[in-house]
Amino acid sequence: MESIWQKTAQKPQFPVQQQDMQTDVLIVGGGFTGVLCAYFCKQEGIPYILVEKDAIGAHISGHTTAKITVQHGLCYQKIEKSYGKEAARQYYAANRDALETYRQLCKTIDCDFEEQEAVVYARRKPECEKITAEYSLYQTLGIPAKLCDGKGLPFSVLGAVSVKGQAQFHPLKFLYAIARDLEIYENTFVKRFDDTRAYTNRGKIDAKRVVIATHFPFVDRAGLYFMKLYQQRSYVFALENAEPPDAMCIGVPENSLSFRRFQGLLLFGGGGHKTGKSDGGYPVLEKLRRLYYPKSRIQSRWAAQDCMSLDGIPYIGRYAGLLPNFYVATGFNKWGMTSSMAAARILTDMLVGRNNENAEVFAPNRSIWKPQLLVNGLNSAGNLLLPLPHRCTHLGCALHYNRQEHSWDCPCHGSRFSESGEILENPANRPLG
Ligand SMILES: Cc1cc2nc3c(=O)[nH]c(=O)nc-3n(C[C@H](O)[C@H](O)[C@H](O)COP(=O)(O)OP(=O)(O)OC[C@H]3O[C@@H](n4cnc5c(N)ncnc54)[C@H](O)[C@@H]3O)c2cc1C
Repeated sequence: MESIWQKTAQKPQFPVQQQDMQTDVLIVGGGFTGVLCAYFCKQEGIPYILVEKDAIGAHISGHTTAKITVQHGLCYQKIEKSYGKEAARQYYAANRDALETYRQLCKTIDCDFEEQEAVVYARRKPECEKITAEYSLYQTLGIPAKLCDGKGLPFSVLGAVSVKGQAQFHPLKFLYAIARDLEIYENTFVKRFDDTRAYTNRGKIDAKRVVIATHFPFVDRAGLYFMKLYQQRSYVFALENAEPPDAMCIGVPENSLSFRRFQGLLLFGGGGHKTGKSDGGYPVLEKLRRLYYPKSRIQSRWAAQDCMSLDGIPYIGRYAGLLPNFYVATGFNKWGMTSSMAAARILTDMLVGRNNENAEVFAPNRSIWKPQLLVNGLNSAGNLLLPLPHRCTHLGCALHYNRQEHSWDCPCHGSRFSESGEILENPANRPLG
């Protein structure tokens, strides 16, 4: 379903691959991650080619809510607990620099960029305690925050913490402007690799290095991304006649309601669930819309999904020891605006051989021994054994029918197929047979 961004931006056209090609860096995927990587490669003078199987911004990047913030839920306590204060500092610095880069770039791009506070709100007492702890950590990390009230949310909150100087924008106006002069080939689908040679639906591309910016990485012979990631689907209504809160807001628990303003509309997000499960979606969001904004009207609605990592930190860096010339950026945990900018910076630094002092916290080769690994493993094992007729072309899990969106969805890794078997979301790289 078209998002409000797709309805209100003019997309530039790009050619398809016409012949076999050669380059230094092949970037696969034309969302924020791939396009920003291409933008910085061009600035550094690195020969590159970006290929996109559909159209740039057509997938998750065109269906985001586009809050640009360093406040990713209550992420800093989690990072500090797992990896220490230096890791939390690196995470903050990478995202703060990303926000600053957007701020600079948006000075000359017409993309509805606006400064806005970011807020995490709590509705229950234990959530409030977490807010207070996150606020103390913000102070030691130098994050400009304050405890605040509900900012005009449509329900009462017990506590909230806001970060100043964050932003929101129109993601596709930005992406299309950045992409305009880049070497991009659309409708060019990488089917497989032989070392760093890519075989596409149009021919071959010989590269020295490859950046996998395909949202869910599809090269399964190394890196264990099929064990390290799962996908969460979320739903958004653009509402007329609904007063937005005075900040970009999100609740403490996973899949809580999200709010931001866009022009005269409220972007109201929620109903989230693991892709392939049926415990959320538009009906849940609709019930809440009627409760909190009974006089509102739905102007547009859309759904999308993002990759969730084992520890809440993206995987950005070398793909795997066995693939030394491959790089990756994934697992943005629904915070891909600053994360994709941070990724593009880190990967470009790696490509030119420059040290990036914030890269370590994102290194994909960090330990996988997290409780979520067991959850992912048990879930996949259960689904592999289910005797259902439709099987995913990625790793063979049983597909579940999604009645709301009329698709076949994989609860293991989040691939989705249309009723006629075409790929809607990867990692699957082949349609249903
Ligand atoms: C509902 C929702 C709301 C969100 N809101 C926010 C927010 O407010 N703030 C925030 O920071 N983040 C938010 N996010 C997260 C953010 O939107 C994503 O993390 C980010 O857009 C992902 O960008 P990407 O480039 O990695 O993926 P994508 O945009 O999906 O790009 C990947 C591209 O790779 C292409 N591709 C895949 N396989 C191949 C292949 N084999 N060959 C060629 N091309 C291929 C695809 O066609 C696709 O275009 C939200 C996510 C969701 C789902």
